[in-house]
Amino acid sequence: MTREFQVQGTPVSELAREFGTPMFVYDGAALRDRFFGLRDRLDPAMEIFFSLKANPNVSICSLLRSFGARAEVSSLVELMTARRAGHPPENVIFLGPGKSRQELAACLDEGIYAIVCESLPELALVDELARSRGVRAPVALRVNPSFAVKRSGLAMGGKPRQFGIDETELFAQTDLVERYPGLDLMGVQVYMGTRILSEDVVVENTGRIFDLAERLSATLGFGLRMVDVGGGLGVAYFDGESDLDAGVLTERLNPVVGDFRARHPETRLIMELGRYLTAEAGTYVVAVRYVKDSMGERFAVADGGTHHHMAAVGIGSFVKRNFPMTVLNRLDEPATEEWNVTGPLCTPNDTLGKKVALPSVRPGDLIGVHRSGAYGPTASPVLFLSHGYPAEVLVHEGRPHLVRERDVPEDLLLRQRLVDPAALGAADVSP
Ligand SMILES: *Cc1c(COP(=O)(O)O)cnc(C)c1O
Repeated sequence: MTREFQVQGTPVSELAREFGTPMFVYDGAALRDRFFGLRDRLDPAMEIFFSLKANPNVSICSLLRSFGARAEVSSLVELMTARRAGHPPENVIFLGPGKSRQELAACLDEGIYAIVCESLPELALVDELARSRGVRAPVALRVNPSFAVKRSGLAMGGKPRQFGIDETELFAQTDLVERYPGLDLMGVQVYMGTRILSEDVVVENTGRIFDLAERLSATLGFGLRMVDVGGGLGVAYFDGESDLDAGVLTERLNPVVGDFRARHPETRLIMELGRYLTAEAGTYVVAVRYVKDSMGERFAVADGGTHHHMAAVGIGSFVKRNFPMTVLNRLDEPATEEWNVTGPLCTPNDTLGKKVALPSVRPGDLIGVHRSGAYGPTASPVLFLSHGYPAEVLVHEGRPHLVRERDVPEDLLLRQRLVDPAALGAADVSP
């Protein structure tokens, strides 16, 4: 008798039979619990925007929208995804340091809520595009703050960055409103970094961002209709980390939000969350093809690897730390052995887990990399060795749905063009 990993009652082996491996499986109920775990506690004035960057699957985006999430996008296709997922334009914001003219034009033509601008030349371009259309562009300023709150994972403030406009530079632009008549300056955005696992850091960031937004709008002379406090809320992946406590977080954050709200009752408040919303709900499922020993270490060679899950190589760290992993089809067997779990790529970096404690692994076993619903395949070199995209399956209300087909060889060959060497003027000397 072996206990098996299930998603809403469907055993993972059944999902693997139906959809094949490697695949990403998302649990819609986990997604819902994650969202409402925060939503139900957070001051209702603070809106939650889903950062599509973390998981741009249109069905994931649409399900989150049905819960009440809005959309924060950073590319033309993410914008199209959000619209296709059913987001009305007034619930979409677009940010990113290198927006193209085409992307900015699409923001204006779609009539999204705010373009978050990240440089002075971008402001000039948006101004030009808006005036040529006879409209005013709703623009929020992304600020690269002078301060950095310590312990905030990948810290963004207080350093030279390609993101946002330096705080000191912005405060000197006192004629910004007059300079760009095509811009409707309406808000401020600050993103302090990712993978934050301290409630106090989130609270302190938020307070400082509110303060900065107030001072900036007063100095530059525009009304504060929106403040986007970023987010960067993390999830625990590795030994020694622990998850944020939504209860503790909101207990400390809500008074800060309420305080600002009392002074600015009309201002729309935004928190952008990617990883926090989707990571926990996803499992990367690979099947073991071969097991072998090498110089005293055990290797389980699986059909999927870091080309689908680059984050598993190690996030922001030179030391390899393992994501939580289990043998999904034998959950109740004790993890008495150490295994290197590797993929099919011809590079030693294709290691999903190093010296992972697992039960004895056999060919055909399904290994799951948990908490993998964020920064999976889209943040990975899916074309390396031409393996392509894995299948993605969303299980909701007890039923599995294929939400992305795996790439087939023709998908990968389709966009290449074969130029005959003769057409290149080369003599074909092959025998
Ligand atoms: C990446 C990013 C996010 C999402 O970050 P998470 O850590 O996944 O929540 C939000 N806002 C900005 C500006 C980002 O660059």
